[in-house]
Parts: sequence; C-alpha cells; structure tokens
Amino acid sequence: MPELLRVDHLSTTRAEVNLDCLRHNTRRLSARSGDARIMAIVKANAYGHGAVPVAHALTNEGVEHLAVATLPEAVELREAGITGRVLVLGAPLEEMVPYYDRYNVEITVSSQATAKALLRLAREGYRFAVHVKVDTGMSRLGLSPAEAPPVIRKLASASNIRVAAVWSHLATGTREADPMARAQLDRLTSVWQAVADLDIDLHLEHTGALLSALPRIAPPERMLVRPGLGLYGYDPENRERIALKPVMRLVSQVTHVKTIEPGTSVSYRGTWTAERPARIATVGAGYADGVPYTLSNRGQVRIGSACYPIVGEVCMDMFMVHLGAPGEAPEVAPGTEAVLYGGEGPTAAEVAAAGNTTIYELLCRVASRVPRVYLNR
Ligand SMILES: *Cc1c(COP(=O)(O)O)cnc(C)c1O
Repeated sequence: MPELLRVDHLSTTRAEVNLDCLRHNTRRLSARSGDARIMAIVKANAYGHGAVPVAHALTNEGVEHLAVATLPEAVELREAGITGRVLVLGAPLEEMVPYYDRYNVEITVSSQATAKALLRLAREGYRFAVHVKVDTGMSRLGLSPAEAPPVIRKLASASNIRVAAVWSHLATGTREADPMARAQLDRLTSVWQAVADLDIDLHLEHTGALLSALPRIAPPERMLVRPGLGLYGYDPENRERIALKPVMRLVSQVTHVKTIEPGTSVSYRGTWTAERPARIATVGAGYADGVPYTLSNRGQVRIGSACYPIVGEVCMDMFMVHLGAPGEAPEVAPGTEAVLYGGEGPTAAEVAAAGNTTIYELLCRVASRVPRVYLNR
C-alpha cells in the first residue's frame, strides 16, 4: 500500500476544479463589467466547486466582495480566514441578526420587520452594513418599490448602520430586449432615483444580464455586478459570447465490465433490455454523488475516445453504460475514466438538457462525498 495514500485518492469519483479556468472567467467577466465591481457569488459551496478554495482564488484575483445565500455559508468563509466583504443574499430571521455583526457580514434587508429589528439592535450598539433588497418582479424577497425609499432613508440616518447598497434580482436570463428584465430595471431605477442623494451602491446583474446588453442605470463606480454561473464557466443562455471555460470536470471510473445476452435487462425495474449481446460497463457514481436520476436511459458519458449511452436506471452509487456489441465495443478495463461532464466529456449544458434540469442544479448537486481535486492552485 502506498504510504501517502490520502482518502481522496480512494474515491472512484472526483470533481476536478481547475482554478486557472476560474481565474480566466473572472478576468473575462471583469472586462465585461467595465468599471462596475464584481461581487462574486459563492453560495451553495461555490456552485459545488468548494466555497473556501474558490473564495481564496477569487480574493487573490482581486475580487473584493463575495456573496452567499445563508449565514452559515458566510461563517464558513470567515472561519477559513476570508476577511473581505461578504454579503448574505437571503433574508435573515430576526434571531440571526446579531450574528451579522459578530461575523462582520453584510446583511440583506428585505422587509419592514427586518429594518425595525436592525434599528433596535443598532441603538443597542450592534453595527450593520445593509443591502436593501427591492422586489421588482420575482415576488420572492424584497420591499416593494414604493416602500423601499423611506426605509432606506430611515436606515441611512441611524447611527451604527451603513446602507451599502440597494439591489434586486432578475427573473430571466435576459436575452436581448427581454421585456421582463426591462420592467424590473425600471422599477429598481425608480427606487435608485428616489435616494440618489445618498451615497449608496446599486446591484442587479447576474451572469445572464452581464452577458446581455442590459442598460446601466447608475454611474459605473456605484455599480456592482453579481455573477455566479459565469465564474464557473457557463452562460445560462448558452451564448458563447466571451469564451468562458468550464471550471469543473466530473469524472468517475469503470468498476466492472461484462457481456450480457439478448433479453437480459439492466438495473432496477429492468427498464432497458439488450436486444443483442452487449458489453456493459458499470461506473462507480450514482445519484448520491450528484448524477441525476433523470439521466436514466438518457445520458451519455465519455469513456476513452467516444461517448456511450447510460442504460437502465441510475442507481444511488453506480450506473451502467452500453459500450456496444462484443467485438465492436472498445476494450475497457476497470479503472478506466468515465467523464460525466467537463473536459473532453459532454458539456454540463448537454447533461442538464438530457436530464431535464439546469446547469445550476447539476453543479450544486455534486455531493459532499465526492472529493474536490484542485488543479493550478
Ligand atoms: C445566485 C444569484 C446570483 C448569481 O446568478 P448567476 O445566474 O449564477 O450569475 C445573483 N444574485 C442573486 C440574488 C442570486 O441568488
């Protein structure tokens, strides 16, 4: 047994995370944002890529502002030594509010009730940097455009509170001339204009908006942009506008190969049956690793120099692949790589389409039992 075997090297499946690609994408998106600053979205374990290593790489690349979805995600960054600005995008429950001060994390104010709680705690000496969220069309979180300006003024005039920004979130991926995005932009503009005398920033654009031509409503030095998916190498609208590079390569290994006779079915419930003798490879990854169950009888994986179809239902820990007829199928030995997506494998966009899901869900589903292996740290 090799002496320095780490447990990561014992896993059949791994997610390779190429930090050079992350840096490349960060530079491309930075160039695209002009003078607006990047607030990098590292929620959901940096879309499955590993929040702490990704945050360190982004910070070293000059990104000064990070955002996550939840307070525990922000605390994870702080405990890992990330000292830059961190915003929690989600709405805080009242009992969580003091922890934003304790961990020096910027807070989203999404309701009158949260604003009140902050004003009370600020009088007791707690300190907050606040991003006021406006509901411009998602009907998810935020003050209405009418209620936002007075709340912003009240917060801005309180001691121990700094209103850092006003912001909203777009419901669409913003193709050109997307009327929904335009309407949301107009609503945020009305709020921004009502508080233009205050010294606060504005942010709205996610990756899809950044890669489209959504007009900018504030001077660039007042603007932040909030790319997530683009940092990890994808445009949600699949326009190949600025040559992003997928950061993750999800790869497993063949663990078993056999020939089955005509009439033999594969996997649970026998949903695929061989019509002719078939070479079948078993791959050591399943839905517990983040391979969508919906790829059953639909997905493809790359083994050697070609892609092969997934046959039968995807299991919790493995799935089967049809390599072809004996004599025609390639010689595949256990241990051979099976690329689920990224690198020379199918793209995450293709896999998401085959599995009737999104690239977002695909990436952040990569399970905690799959070791992340960082390249070009
Ligand atoms: C996730 C998220 C983003 C990033 O969106 P992408 O489409 O991944 O760029 C931006 N803003 C908010 C509020 C989000 O929740």
